[in-house]
Amino acid sequence: MTEITRDVAIVGAGPAGLTAANALKAAGLTVAVLEARDRVGGRTWTDDIDGATLEIGGQWVSPDQEALLETLDELGLETFERYREGDSLYISRTGELTRFTGDIFPVAPETEAELVRLIDKLDALAAEVDPDRPWEHPRAAELDTISFQAWLEAETDDQEARDNIALFIGPAMLTKPAHAFSTLQALLMASSAGSFTNLVDADFILDKRIVGGMQEVSHRLAARLEGDVFLGEPVRRIQHAEDSVVVTSDGITVRAKRVILAHAPVLYSRISFEPPLPRRQHQLHQHLSMGFVIKVHAVYDRPFWREAGLSGTVFSPYQLCHEAYDNTNHLDERGTLVGFVSDQHADNVFELSDEERKERILDSLAAYFGPEAKSPVVYYESDWGTEEWTRGAYAASFDLGGLHRYGADLRTPVGPIHFACSDMAGAGYQHVDGAIRMGRHVAQNLITELGA
Ligand SMILES: Cc1cc2nc3c(=O)[nH]c(=O)nc-3n(C[C@H](O)[C@H](O)[C@H](O)COP(=O)(O)OP(=O)(O)OC[C@H]3O[C@@H](n4cnc5c(N)ncnc54)[C@H](O)[C@@H]3O)c2cc1C
Repeated sequence: MTEITRDVAIVGAGPAGLTAANALKAAGLTVAVLEARDRVGGRTWTDDIDGATLEIGGQWVSPDQEALLETLDELGLETFERYREGDSLYISRTGELTRFTGDIFPVAPETEAELVRLIDKLDALAAEVDPDRPWEHPRAAELDTISFQAWLEAETDDQEARDNIALFIGPAMLTKPAHAFSTLQALLMASSAGSFTNLVDADFILDKRIVGGMQEVSHRLAARLEGDVFLGEPVRRIQHAEDSVVVTSDGITVRAKRVILAHAPVLYSRISFEPPLPRRQHQLHQHLSMGFVIKVHAVYDRPFWREAGLSGTVFSPYQLCHEAYDNTNHLDERGTLVGFVSDQHADNVFELSDEERKERILDSLAAYFGPEAKSPVVYYESDWGTEEWTRGAYAASFDLGGLHRYGADLRTPVGPIHFACSDMAGAGYQHVDGAIRMGRHVAQNLITELGA
């Protein structure tokens, strides 16, 4: 067992942990980052699969994600636009395939009016919610104890309008069914992205990608830490006193003044705390759970949909793949579609054999793009549910009532133990931007606390 001494130990080499480590080091503090996996990046992971470079985890950047944009600038990373020329596609409740442009799906005029009304109403409500403190909304308890599904049912009788509004928060963001999270949680998701309208606008929320891949952010942040990042070191035990911690992984013991847990909160229970965490944290952490989505990558010899004047952007709450996009790499001649299979649909297809699941998913892409979609040259499913050190995707959210009951303590330190992760961010919640914001926030608190 190697023993080292540092000012701050950091558990997790994802964007949050690496941002915190860089900020602490820049302020003159010493750090050690212990990472369970044999790579940095956490839920961002750019890898070559069967000769195709794929973004297995997080990838898109939106214009409001200032912390991420500043980091890209500082690291010298460039972005490129997601391909979006041409028509998008929508499959209706009755199975009709329609081309459209703009944000509002091509639905019957009365459904369209309901969609517009609900988007306006959700924008107004989201504007009242401070993403950093949603529990302070005057109606927080009321909004947090009604599921988003029940709220939508009370708002409109129009099933297709409900299904589409639910899609933007449920399958597309929290990756849970709309009956499984509260309206306050839905409003947090919208306000963290600036508005509900921003979630509806794919050209905003999925605007740009990074040349070289999103994992490059973590690679470059880690490179600046020169030997202070230790891979393959899952932290198993944290002994803590008022002003000190002993953090033990499989091969290293770090004696430090403070520790930052920079990973998904569902994994806190993987660590033995001595003494145990307080009762409130034990309860709080059990009310958070990961969503679940399969990110499907289908690479073709060419982006054939472009020849038909299609952008590659498709939506349908009635399809196994509820959304898909052109995900062709920068300067790549081949064409890539990325599709998403969320929550209960993901559970269901994992009951099938690999071949059957692939066939069902490609059938769903073919329902939008035609039979050519059934024959990719590379096919890959990102399955974060099997990843021991993540356990779902994209991130964690509270169960019904959990946000107003416990949210205020999510970021509250326990003695020398501090918390930072995208899953507890306000702005940028569930995104790399939020991870960076939380990494900066916790580092600033520690710099002040340790008088650096
Ligand atoms: C499929 C998918 C698509 C996504 N798409 C986008 C997108 O397009 N845009 C976007 O901005 N975001 C996206 N995200 C979300 C984004 O990737 C995450 O919000 C972000 O990576 C979170 O960063 P983090 O540092 O907080 O946590 P993580 O990235 O999860 O990093 C935490 C690290 O801690 C490590 N760890 C955990 N437990 C221990 C332990 N006990 N000891 C040591 N190490 C430990 C983990 O191995 C991991 O490396 C996506 C995520 C997924 C999975």
